[in-house]
Amino acid sequence: MNEEKVKRERKKIEFWAEQIAEKIIAREKFSYLEKPLPSIKKWTVKSSSSLSGVLHIGRLSDIIRSEAVFRALKERGFPAEFIYVTEDMDPIRSIPKGVPKEFEKYAGFAVSDVPDPFGCHKSYALHFKEEFLKVLSDFLFEEPTVYSMREEYKKGSFTESILALAKKQDELRAIIERVQGSELPAEWNFWKPICDKCGNLQSTQVTKMEGTKVYYKCVDYEFEKVLAKGCGFEGVQDLAKANGKMAWKSEWAGQWKFWQVCSEGAGKDYNAPNSAWFVNAEICEKLLDFPMPEPIFYEHIIIGGEKMSASKGNVVYPVEWLEVSRPEALKYLYMKKINKTRNFLWAEVPALERELDQAVEKTFEPGKTADEKELLQANNLYKYSLTKKRKPSVIPFDYDLAVMFAQLFKDNDIALKALVEQGHLTGKENKDVLSQAKERLDHARKWVEKYAPAEQRISFAESIPSGLKEKTGNDAKQAFNEIIALLPSLKTHEEIQTKIFEVIRKLALKPKAFFPLIYQALMARDQGPKLGSLILALGKEKVINRLKELTK
Ligand SMILES: [Zn+2]
Ligand SMILES: [Zn+2]
Repeated sequence: MNEEKVKRERKKIEFWAEQIAEKIIAREKFSYLEKPLPSIKKWTVKSSSSLSGVLHIGRLSDIIRSEAVFRALKERGFPAEFIYVTEDMDPIRSIPKGVPKEFEKYAGFAVSDVPDPFGCHKSYALHFKEEFLKVLSDFLFEEPTVYSMREEYKKGSFTESILALAKKQDELRAIIERVQGSELPAEWNFWKPICDKCGNLQSTQVTKMEGTKVYYKCVDYEFEKVLAKGCGFEGVQDLAKANGKMAWKSEWAGQWKFWQVCSEGAGKDYNAPNSAWFVNAEICEKLLDFPMPEPIFYEHIIIGGEKMSASKGNVVYPVEWLEVSRPEALKYLYMKKINKTRNFLWAEVPALERELDQAVEKTFEPGKTADEKELLQANNLYKYSLTKKRKPSVIPFDYDLAVMFAQLFKDNDIALKALVEQGHLTGKENKDVLSQAKERLDHARKWVEKYAPAEQRISFAESIPSGLKEKTGNDAKQAFNEIIALLPSLKTHEEIQTKIFEVIRKLALKPKAFFPLIYQALMARDQGPKLGSLILALGKEKVINRLKELTK
């Protein structure tokens, strides 16, 4: 390889997902033990989510980031599979908004054992799972194999690990206490049976283990907000039947071993030496004899500076995203630096869309980008933001302009015609570009309706507001006349913007007094979007006629 090529290769590796992939491929041994890695035909990259809460866009971050690492591994010929596990054995610990309050009686039950509050599916878990998987597919490039924890417990997938841990309970307790840095309650046990009498999971308490026999009693368990009611039953189960669940600090390790996980995403709160990640990492290696996976630690997304939560009312659902923005734009947001908190505001959708546009443009027109590193970064962001269903094209007009045209023209075909007339489109665009242009108009229209700040909302005033003529002085009239004379020869919004400023500077008009006149004349408001784009969007002729009325 020549020097230039080596340099380029090194730069390529700077993309975080590829760095992680390189690390996985280069790995030779366990992390806690001096032991070579086992030879494994197929590793997996795992992502999972709980089904007990709200499935907002933050929940997508884990799978989107895991997908990127999986793609980077695949591209390098590493034998891996991409899997998504639904944590449907998790107990219900609170009743989310929209679910009837009477569901409190199921507190502590595994979500797969609770009926569907909406009556359309076999269980609570299936309802939320189907909803999530449907929308997930719009955001992914690679389809993961989907697993259910409930099903895997039933199939006996974790039985080997459960029995191994039952034999090594003292070591298990010692690892957990040492790594997390605090003692476990005396009655703690890694196993929770599902009560044979009432079906609750969280309320059972193991009292004794003898070989594969588990003795338990069913007693009240207090969650933060709800009570998992115990029925008082005392029973015995065969651990080999695995009718229950491992505690999180051991179950994660069991998952890694069973699915042969080489990498998995986890929020940055797990990137602490005493976290559940590292507790499981040691359990996995020392008690289950499987190497801990390479973590993909990421920062969470926050909305307007706050954590997303149903009680704050700032939850963003994936379907809401798709109403106003491309799926690639959310992926793009997650593909940027993984260790930086993403603060998202609905008002920033146009800016984010613009960034994605730039990455698409640089990829399709590489000649325009001089800096090679910048180009590679754009290529990577573009590539890892792709979804399998669509391919973003270069859309000749940006989201901001779409915001204006979408408001002025409710019909997309008419809007497109106006965009052609005003030179934003050639009229010779192919079908793909046209359908994406229409999609952009639809997104922008919805965005204005739901999220646009007041200054971005526009509509052409039906007539000149009363009193405006009287307020327009002679020097302002002169400015309008000059603008009227200039407009026909001006093409771009930048040109219009610059010329208008030149005119008011030349006539020594005060912008604070002058601009409200023109916005009033056009929109019956004191301010609005940049004049250059506004005038193009309204159409120069319409604007000229309106200004003529004012100067009469
Ligand atoms: Zn349902
Ligand atoms: Zn019970």
